[in-house]
Amino acid sequence: MQQLEMLEKPTRLSCNICKETKPEDCFSFDASAGKRGRAHRCKECEKARLRAFYLKNKEAILEKGRKTYRNSIKPQAKAKVRQAMEKGLLTRQPCEICEAAEAEGHHDDYAKPLAVRWLCRMHHKQWHAEFGEAPNACTVRHWTPTKERML
Ligand SMILES: [Zn+2]
Ligand SMILES: [Zn+2]
Ligand SMILES: [Zn+2]
Repeated sequence: MQQLEMLEKPTRLSCNICKETKPEDCFSFDASAGKRGRAHRCKECEKARLRAFYLKNKEAILEKGRKTYRNSIKPQAKAKVRQAMEKGLLTRQPCEICEAAEAEGHHDDYAKPLAVRWLCRMHHKQWHAEFGEAPNACTVRHWTPTKERML
């Protein structure tokens, strides 16, 4: 009975952020709020704050990821392959599985930029579906190719 009485007269609290007075339910429990027992900002304002925080951080996390990628050896390995092909040190080969002429250079290990295998789009996709990303894709390193690597 006592519980019912409590439900019949809901307490209304004001929110510090939107300045609205809302039923107690609209505020989450907060032991640090003393006698009030509920947070000083309503759930909606709390949600908005978290969303803003998330969006801000998402951008920062994405940017960090982009930076890591630019500094990682994977794009560097790809660039080295391109350069070696331009210099005639590396020639495009047909797919080593099906011998299709349109093959892509694939690295078993990005730390060995010129150790390239040639796979057509389909077999290349298949390789990564089976083995995932090749080792060292995310390794951040500024290496200079040694002579034997260039050869
Ligand atoms: Zn509010
Ligand atoms: Zn193939
Ligand atoms: Zn690959």
